[in-house]
Amino acid sequence: MPSHRISPKVEAFPPSLTLALKALVAERRAAGLPVFDFGLGETRGALRPSIADGAIEAYREGWTVYGDPAGLPELRSAILPWLGVEERYGSECVVVSTGAKQALMNVFLTLLDPGDVALLDCAPWVSYQPLALAASARPVCVTPAAGSANRLKVDAADLTRAVEAEPRARLFLINSPCNPTGQVYQPGELNALLRACARHEIYLVLDRLYWRLMYDGADFPEPEIDDQTRPWLIQLDGLSKNFRRTGGMRIGWTVAPEDVTRGMVNLQSHYTSGPSMPAQYGALAALSEPYDHEMRDQLEGKRDLMIERGAALPHVELWPIPGAFYSFWDVRGCFGRVTPGGDNVGTSDDVARYLLDAAGVVTASGSGFEQDGFLRVTFTAPDEELTAGLEEAARVLSDLS
Ligand code: PLP
Repeated sequence: MPSHRISPKVEAFPPSLTLALKALVAERRAAGLPVFDFGLGETRGALRPSIADGAIEAYREGWTVYGDPAGLPELRSAILPWLGVEERYGSECVVVSTGAKQALMNVFLTLLDPGDVALLDCAPWVSYQPLALAASARPVCVTPAAGSANRLKVDAADLTRAVEAEPRARLFLINSPCNPTGQVYQPGELNALLRACARHEIYLVLDRLYWRLMYDGADFPEPEIDDQTRPWLIQLDGLSKNFRRTGGMRIGWTVAPEDVTRGMVNLQSHYTSGPSMPAQYGALAALSEPYDHEMRDQLEGKRDLMIERGAALPHVELWPIPGAFYSFWDVRGCFGRVTPGGDNVGTSDDVARYLLDAAGVVTASGSGFEQDGFLRVTFTAPDEELTAGLEEAARVLSDLS
């Protein structure tokens, strides 16, 4: 028997936060305990019939053969106007993948050699680090300068500091609108980062998976694509968040320079041969219709409810939420306090555990995003559940002494 049977890099992965939360919710429900599920990153509601029809027809018509490993040509073409980049790219720059997760893995495996550094935003989404480690790279978070009031967004000076400290940095990955913080890089901020990346000759990987979910009438701040920036920009997107009930269809995509795309297609042709064909036909149906802002409008109402009710939470501060469907509660005001049961509260995990045990409110601890001191709270639940859960949270937080 070898001394280890599983690669240490995989053994070191933290368990998936999402799956752990799902298990907790199921456990409490089975025990008949109250649950306010604000933990998962998923919208509610029904799949659009046209998306289902697209996939079902593909099954019926036998589109179940192997496809182009880069993705269905019609879908690759449709992705360009969906992102508004058809003037700048052709479909040879698009790869369709099995969810945005595989798109990320394609990027990491194609750009990073063992020991290279993947720079990440300072509150990275939970899978960024495990995926970079799986590519034998070293994930390093870029941190804002001390005293920055920019709600965990980093700027070009922060990035330059990180690149100087990490000569093997090959890419910088940001998510905007951001899971977990709900913050959005404004045009000036985004483009300063993109130009800094181009100057340092590292890729900016822009994960824009929530880009249609912008509130208060704002448009998604687009990166400026010109001859300087185009070689260094990779945009990553997918079906999972901007539509209802599409996360399990597992369709994501990238738009990237031709040579990077060729590398990713070659790689993908060996390890998945491309995503499921019927799911791609469903995605094509989704992108072929004008985008319906109904879900965004409904989420905006929930965002307002979260901000209004959240203001009444003792010891907690909420930020404005310009995009996505998460509120990132600053719970450091709970630290140093004691629960009615006599437990000391000193970490985000403690606060998350207390809210769950005392009120059945499920949140995602900031420790899963390198940000102890915060909780991620998803606001996709029905309004009544959201209101009742926030009332319960306020009640038990006021019991901390
Ligand atoms: N990027 C971010 C920021 C996400 O929140 C998620 C999923 O939650 C992903 C990527 C992965 O998306 P997918 O489910 O399409 O693989």
